[in-house]
This record gives sequence, C-alpha cells and structure tokens, in this order.
Amino acid sequence: MANENTITLKETGELQVPDRPIIPFIEGDGTGPDIWRATRLVLDAAVDKAYGGNRAIDWLEVLAGEKAFNQTGEWLPEATLDAIRTYRVAIKGPLTTPVGGGIRSVNVQLRQVLDLYACVRPVRYIAGIPSPMKAPENVDMVVFRENTEDVYIGYEWEADSPMAKKLIEFIDREEGRQIREGSGIGIKPISRFGSRRLVQMAVQYALDHQRPSVTLVHKGNIMKYTEGAFRNWGYEVAQEVFGDRVVTEEAVWDRHDGQVPEGRVLIKDRIADAMFQQILLRPAEYDVLAMPNLNGDYMSDALAAMAGGLGMAPGANIGDGFAVFEATHGTAPKYAGLDKINPGSLILSGAMMLDHLGWQEAAEAVRQGVIGAINAKQVTYDLARQMAGSTEVACSRFARIVVDNMPA
Ligand code: NAP
Repeated sequence: MANENTITLKETGELQVPDRPIIPFIEGDGTGPDIWRATRLVLDAAVDKAYGGNRAIDWLEVLAGEKAFNQTGEWLPEATLDAIRTYRVAIKGPLTTPVGGGIRSVNVQLRQVLDLYACVRPVRYIAGIPSPMKAPENVDMVVFRENTEDVYIGYEWEADSPMAKKLIEFIDREEGRQIREGSGIGIKPISRFGSRRLVQMAVQYALDHQRPSVTLVHKGNIMKYTEGAFRNWGYEVAQEVFGDRVVTEEAVWDRHDGQVPEGRVLIKDRIADAMFQQILLRPAEYDVLAMPNLNGDYMSDALAAMAGGLGMAPGANIGDGFAVFEATHGTAPKYAGLDKINPGSLILSGAMMLDHLGWQEAAEAVRQGVIGAINAKQVTYDLARQMAGSTEVACSRFARIVVDNMPA
C-alpha cells in the first residue's frame, strides 16, 4: 500500500510528510457524512490557499461504524486499522456505539488497538461565541487525557456475579478489608509507564508551543497509589527528560524568588476538585493540563462548554507515530442528513491535523476562516439560538462561509 505519498517516521520520531500525503478518513455515522463533507471542503480550500497547488491531501476513505458493518459485517475492519497503521495520520467523524450485544465502542477499540494513548483537546475561546463565562477570552488550555488506563479500561464486575464475590472474599482474606456484600467491583489501574509517556507528551507540547505551564490534575489526596502516583511520576519524568527546561512550583519559591526563570515551563499540580474551580475562576493561570482518564473526561467537556460547546471543540487521539483526529461530539442522529449540525468540531480538528503535519499556514487559514464566520454571525442552529443578531445557516453553507473568510 505504501508509496511516495505515504507519511513516514524519521529516526527522530518526527513525521516526514510528502506534498501529497494519503490521509485515510472515516466519514462517521449519523451526522458524520454532513460534517465530513463540510470539513473536507474547508481543509482542501485551506491547503490550496496556503500552498497554491504545491500541496494537497490525497483522501482515502476507510470504513468504520455502521457503514462498515453494513458493507462488511464488521464494525472496525482490519483493513481500516491497516490503513491507519500504514498512513499514520487519519481523521474521523463520530461513530455510533452499538448498545448491548457485547459490542465494544469502536472509538475505544481504535484508541486501544493503535495505542493512541493521549486524547488531546485544545480549548480556546473564539470571540463572539456564546459562553457561560464572564471573561471567556481567558480560556485557552490544552488537555492531555490519558487514554488507555484508569477506570475507562472497563475491568468491572456486576454486583453478585461470581467474580465480584470472589474479589470481595479475596480482599477480605488477604487484606482484611471489608467491601459491602452486593457491591459491583471496578478496577482502576494507573501505571508508571502510562503516566510518564502521557506527561512527557504534554511537556513536550508546552515546550514546542511556548506554553508557560503544565498542570498535573489528580485526586492524589484520596487515591494515593493511582492518582497520587500519576502526579509523582509526572514530576519524575518532567525532571528526568527535560531537566532545566522545566521548573516546579516548589523550586520557583525555594530558589527563584517566586519568578519562573526565562524560557522554562512551570510544572505544577492541582487536586481535581479544586481544579474545576480554578478553570472557572482563574482560567488565565492554566495552559497545558495533563491528567488520568476519568478526570480528563469530565474536564475536557467542562472546558468545551466554557468555550462554546461540543459543536466547536476539536480533539485528537495521539500515540507514538500515529494520530487520529476527530469530532469530539457524538453522531447526533436526530439531525442526520438534515445538513444542519455544526461542523466546527471536525473542521477545527482538521486544523489540528494540519498543524500535526507541519502545515501551519493551512491550519491558520482554517482557524481564521472559522473566526471570520463567527464574526460575521453566520452560524449553525446551535450557536444561532444563543447569539443575538446572528443568521442561522446550514452545515454546508457554514463551511463555504469559513472558506470565504480565509485570508487571501
Ligand atoms: P451527541 O451525538 O453528541 O448529541 C447530543 C446532542 O448534542 C445533540 O442532540 C445536539 O444537541 C448536541 N450536539 C452534538 N453535536 C453537535 C454539533 N456538531 N452541533 C450542534 N449540536 C451538537 O450525543 P448522544 O446523542 O449521546 O450520542 C449519539 C451517538 O454518538 C451514540 O451512539 C454515542 O455512543 C455516539 N458517540 C460517539 C462519539 C465519538 O464518535 N467520538 C462521542 C460521543 C458519543 P441539541 O439537540 O440540543 O441541538
């Protein structure tokens, strides 16, 4: 499958991107085809505007979700995984999670099989978008959420099942700790390996993007050997890998008179519940956030709500050498095929993807186009219903307005 248009990995771990890279896309279920059409139009136009025909994306459709099931009988065909492994960078619309029948979420499977261990969600307010915040312009954070561990791994047993009973007996016998009879049991593994690689990616991002701080968000005051260990391993890897390019809050006070030395990234940590207050009350003090899975799940949606809702929140699942960019919302099935839904989340995920390819000029064109459409108050129904004086436009029309607002 691989040819001269295949993205490859250099020895340094960086991507080698040809001028016409093949990029697999999964259009997604429900409203997926609507937002994918809109996104493709915007990304192609941005690349064309930025590089005038010298660069272009060679899109390759791969199947997952309902479309895959209808055509192949499988929700996530091996051919799709092979294509993403070969081409390294992919983009996807939302996928239906079949309820019942023991079928695992296709999204979770993709993350686990490809070891996409970081869910990256930048949250940046765009002026004019409705927000419940008094000063939403201070919201500019990037969440790095661990994707492969914690309670999300799904190791749990129903109350009164043989395994739940065995575990309760075992813990009583070995540790003398009592768990109430009739309890469901879940396991929360958090490893040194998983925590370190996630925090390392977050600190590297902060250094690469001149972000002043990385905050480790955890509930270590209660869960010392999982959440607390995440914090400790986070400080450990920051120190070991980045040395004097980082500084801890403690060192700032002990050795630097309360001032972060020039050019260093500040590493700090916050307890998760306090952090929820901090993002609301003092958002300007936070930049890059790194956290275990469940904290990240809650916090990334809360942050998205502060900056305009899921309809505008981009995201990506990233591993070593592989990345899948995605809409962060679900399939919104009631709007399927109505050309109505907001394509902003997938469009902005596409901008993240262009950044990841090193095509910053095209990424910036996408973001400027979106800002222009918001400034022109020509928005889809979800934003229009909250923005006074705005005009509601269809999903496809919004995409064309984004293109019209890209810098010449
Ligand atoms: P959802 O699809 O995200 O939709 C819930 C509601 O959120 C919509 O009815 C709509 O609200 C609003 N919304 C979502 N996306 C929007 C957009 N682009 N523009 C404007 N409004 C938007 O959540 P769900 O109904 O819980 O889930 C439906 C399916 O998606 C399920 O099968 C679920 O498993 C799956 N899912 C997939 C992913 C993924 O692929 N990453 C993520 C989450 C859920 P209003 O009706 O108020 O306008």
